[in-house]
Amino acid sequence: MSVKKQIQDLRDELREHNYNYYVLDNAIINDYEFDVKLKTLQELEEKHPEYFDENSPTLRVGGAVTKNFNTVVHAQRMYSLDNSYSLEDLKDWETRIKKLIDGEVEYVCELKYDGASISLTYENGKLLRAVTRGDGVQGDEVTANIKTIKSVPLQLKGEYPLKFDIRGEIVLPIDGFNKMNEERLANGEEAYRNPRNTASGSLKLQDSSEVAKRPLECLLYNLTGNNLGVNSQFESLELARKMGFKVPKAAKLVNSIDAVFEFVNYWDKARHDLPYETDGVVIKVNNLFHQDELGFTSKAPRWAMAYKFKAEQVSTKLNTISYQVGRTGAITPVANLEPVELAGTTVKRASLHNADQIEKLDIRINDTVFVEKGGEIIPKIIAVNLSQRPLDSQKTEYIKHCPECETALVRIEGEAKHYCPNYNGCNPQIVGRVQHYISRKAMDIEGLGGETVSLLVDSGLVSNYADLYRLTKDQVMPLERMAEKSAENLIAGVEASKKIAFERVLFAVGIRFVGETVAKKLAKHYKNINALMMASAEDLEKVDEIGVRIAESVVDFFSSEENIETIKRLKEFGVQLEISAEKLANQTDKLKGQVFVVSGVFEKVSRTELKKMIEDNGGKVSSSISAKTSFVIAGDKMGPSKKEKADKLGVSLLSEDDFLDILK
Ligand code: AMP
Ligand code: ZN
Repeated sequence: MSVKKQIQDLRDELREHNYNYYVLDNAIINDYEFDVKLKTLQELEEKHPEYFDENSPTLRVGGAVTKNFNTVVHAQRMYSLDNSYSLEDLKDWETRIKKLIDGEVEYVCELKYDGASISLTYENGKLLRAVTRGDGVQGDEVTANIKTIKSVPLQLKGEYPLKFDIRGEIVLPIDGFNKMNEERLANGEEAYRNPRNTASGSLKLQDSSEVAKRPLECLLYNLTGNNLGVNSQFESLELARKMGFKVPKAAKLVNSIDAVFEFVNYWDKARHDLPYETDGVVIKVNNLFHQDELGFTSKAPRWAMAYKFKAEQVSTKLNTISYQVGRTGAITPVANLEPVELAGTTVKRASLHNADQIEKLDIRINDTVFVEKGGEIIPKIIAVNLSQRPLDSQKTEYIKHCPECETALVRIEGEAKHYCPNYNGCNPQIVGRVQHYISRKAMDIEGLGGETVSLLVDSGLVSNYADLYRLTKDQVMPLERMAEKSAENLIAGVEASKKIAFERVLFAVGIRFVGETVAKKLAKHYKNINALMMASAEDLEKVDEIGVRIAESVVDFFSSEENIETIKRLKEFGVQLEISAEKLANQTDKLKGQVFVVSGVFEKVSRTELKKMIEDNGGKVSSSISAKTSFVIAGDKMGPSKKEKADKLGVSLLSEDDFLDILK
């Protein structure tokens, strides 16, 4: 037998053993036999580097070190999920679905694995890359680390689509987690807090051989791509299993919300016997065509819903209340608690949100309180145990002055939060604004982190984000933990931010209530900062989805001399303060004032592209037909009830070609 063939056979054989052991949990040979084969393969590969294969089972032990993880944009955004907590919530969800879908709807119930989400890209049966969820639009490439996780196939089995993405969750099973902690404690190291954080921290380790030592697993739940040859979520799970992925068996196909609820109730108890942690159930509309019809909100798919298991509760004592000042000057009261174990973590603090919340709970220092932790990271105080309230207890007085700068706080009518109005002199506001400016979704300045920003502000080098652009290497070198290289990276990162698109700059400058989506809308409408600066509140309110609150806040921002000066400086430094010519060329006002509903399957362009075309040309996309709808773009397989509704309301139907003609 040729060496090449020998190597290939060993690789195939070891792959199969890995699959049996890690995916099917059903080992056929023992560890010793496996190790002998692996060693033989290793030796052969060493002697014959000409047969190198980056997906060889020998490379599972890791070794590659990643210093900086590449940012990769997801081919399809990784959305979040809407949450439900009761049977009523689920029924409401079904009602919303039934408005958009005709006929029977089937659901797939899956467990919601509690770990770190991951997107794997396969091409020609081989793992090409693995990317973390990041902010949903783009994440970090962590391929070298993911390759060390044995349940991730490096080479697929059977028949597979040429190219696709598969999404799942990297989890750390509880046994493995406990074992890691035993070892850490034995070595005098601090124990890890919980499996979920440890799993997600593992993905960003620089040394992949460290990752290889951790007993991580990858559980898959979603296939995306073109021509996958499946018509439903359930089929796609089966296809994933056939290709060699680990897809938990719990997934169940049902045809009513009552059956969904049975699944939920069953697993609420049974989940405690699972080897890994789950924090709920994810319910998905099974039919992929239905999924497509339902589409997405700005945050989550309409065709999926998470059901959160009832959170665990504990009671503990409230020691003190402290007050934090955010970048907008908003004050957040925080409860400092007697540390207590809750759902695997030690809880010491909980958010109290605002003065109303304190009033409502009538929460007082030295009270015994009930704390709850759902999926979210920050625990919540649910109630006070009044029977244990000390007799001398005093009602909580909300602070009247900023804890950082002593300025008298203000509360704008209709708003829950108090604010410190000392915009230019309150340290956490200054630091917070610069931190927001450099953050990932804003200017994404690499080489500059939140702590360095504090140092820059404290040292007087920066008092406003425009100051970043004047920094020199010599100025930043003396800062704590700075070295020549990191100083250079910082300067280069700041320089690179001059290429960031206008809409993100508009988000970055930190106008209150102007989040990412609003910034996009404003950028698109006004096209450059000058036009926006000149806009009156009435003018702004005419922009789609901009209300009084936002309009006033924008006007307010640009009425400040300081802000105008800052913007002027940004402009001088070369930051993008207008839409790029290229983007402008693709946008028109042709569909201004018109509302479209897109339904069915299309031939020439995808539904997503259609929607983008509508928006780029000034139109609006809505998901259901109403009296406000101007046109329905009807593709193949459009539901009969939609057609009926359009007819009844006298809304005209356009074919795909009609629509494309209009835009020509
Ligand atoms: P959340 O982060 O609470 O908005 O929930 C969304 C996350 O749930 C996704 O990003 C996934 O990482 C995770 N998840 C866990 N299990 C599943 C599942 N079976 N289907 C979809 N998402 C899941
Ligand atoms: Zn202040």
